[in-house]
Amino acid sequence: MSKILTLLTASIAFSVALVHAGQPPAADTDAQIQRDLHFHIDELADDSYQGREPGTPGEDKTITWLQRHFAALGAQPGNRGSWVQEVPITAVTSAPTAVLAIRGPEFSADLAYGSEMMVATQQQVATTGIEDSELVFVGYGINAPERGWNDYAGVDVTGKTVVVLVNDPGYGTQDPALFNGNSMTYYGRWDYKYAEAVRQGAAAALIVHETDAASYPWEVVRNSWSGANIGLTADDGHRDKLAIEGWLPLAQAEALFTAAGLDYQASKQAAQKPGFKARPLTGFSASVQLENSLADSLSRNVVALIPGSTHPDEVIIYTAHWDHLGVRPDDEGDNIYNGASDNASGVAGLLAIARQFLAQETPPERSILFLAVTAEESGLLGSKFYSENPIFPAAKTVANFNMDNIAAGNLGRTRDVAVVGYGNSELEDYLARAAEAQGRVVVQEPYPEKGSYYRSDHFSLARVGIPALYLTNATDSIEHGKAWGDERLRDYTANHYHKPSDEYDPAWDLSGAAQEVMLLLQMGRELAANRDFPDWHDGVEFKRARDASLQP
Ligand SMILES: [Zn+2]
Repeated sequence: MSKILTLLTASIAFSVALVHAGQPPAADTDAQIQRDLHFHIDELADDSYQGREPGTPGEDKTITWLQRHFAALGAQPGNRGSWVQEVPITAVTSAPTAVLAIRGPEFSADLAYGSEMMVATQQQVATTGIEDSELVFVGYGINAPERGWNDYAGVDVTGKTVVVLVNDPGYGTQDPALFNGNSMTYYGRWDYKYAEAVRQGAAAALIVHETDAASYPWEVVRNSWSGANIGLTADDGHRDKLAIEGWLPLAQAEALFTAAGLDYQASKQAAQKPGFKARPLTGFSASVQLENSLADSLSRNVVALIPGSTHPDEVIIYTAHWDHLGVRPDDEGDNIYNGASDNASGVAGLLAIARQFLAQETPPERSILFLAVTAEESGLLGSKFYSENPIFPAAKTVANFNMDNIAAGNLGRTRDVAVVGYGNSELEDYLARAAEAQGRVVVQEPYPEKGSYYRSDHFSLARVGIPALYLTNATDSIEHGKAWGDERLRDYTANHYHKPSDEYDPAWDLSGAAQEVMLLLQMGRELAANRDFPDWHDGVEFKRARDASLQP
């Protein structure tokens, strides 16, 4: 009862606020947002942008377009008088001739690059490697104090090579009481495992690839880890990172365990139980050398600001990556990766939201920052750079709303809205109200075991503690039903996602994308008008960073 009353009151208050702020009726807002989306997607996904690859003329065109339109709407340059934040980037390309040599008592394997192992490094140096580095099996390689779980307890891995399972014990057991059950936590991601291995003093980490647990086949590991490994430029050459970040296919890992007198499956099961103890593969060591070529470049985040009228030091950040995959000259036929949905649509959403805020009679009380970030497709680099070089401190950043691929499958209006990383934060209370006002229900993303929460730019802000909300396409189409919506989304993912055919068509139905933009707008308005700092829920892996950042 009281909840219903609160919701009613909130939605009445919201309508009244709209009227008082001189807002046009909702139908006009919706039509304007759809016009903005069409207009900017059409432009940014044009062939003349050449797939918006960082460091190309397509970047210059994109930056110019965004600056001009944020300025025309009346936003201000967001980075101390500048519309951009420069992002220094270094590409490390390792020679594919590396061999991973594993030696043990009566065991010798020379694993070939690509087919039998993958190795790379984030160190920005000409050569790096390991020599006779002892192997230690550390289970899932997780140190999670808030869950009372430490796979590194009582073992010294300094200078050693850790062998790590992919995903987390919740996925491994499908036990909902363990971690988040089937839903992947950050502890399941490879970038966490490498980072934790660094903190433990290891020289190298080899993650065992299993298709189900990783959610992608070995070919994805091979393709995405070969070629240039792009990272933020580090003054110290990232010598603090692992010398070797690697992967072992399941078959090679099983052979190694067997040679060391262990059963792989039994070892995995042991690692899924609380109190697991890491196990040295006694007498076994690894050696591999990488020869690297380095190339530096400078890319840019676009930053536009609406200063808050009452609390300008507190900010709500909207993010969307402007970059996509560029042109691949070796492809036959159309080889321009226009990225119309991924992510011209999200960037268009930034401009659509900016227009709505700037059309208000009174400006928002808290500041609103629009951050169009670069190099998401190369590993969330633009947003990572922002999180390490913030314009507003994390402690004063109220929330982040991210848009990535909001036009996927252009499904039109849906009865539901899906949250990636469902259950993470109190921002979902705001979402519930905003969705209710649209007559929609909030649901969990369809494949939580994929760890999608860790794969777009909001994650860069979440990891420094900023509560971040990321929505994804729900499929229950009002016009055509859920089966139709599921099929549309499946078709987009299979045939257009990260393909040259992710192209704009004026016939696109962007009413669904506009619904999402309106939800994000409404949440931002509500937060801008109150004093609330929504928090992560207890047990969520980002709460520690938030608590630390809020310490006086
Ligand atoms: Zn994207």
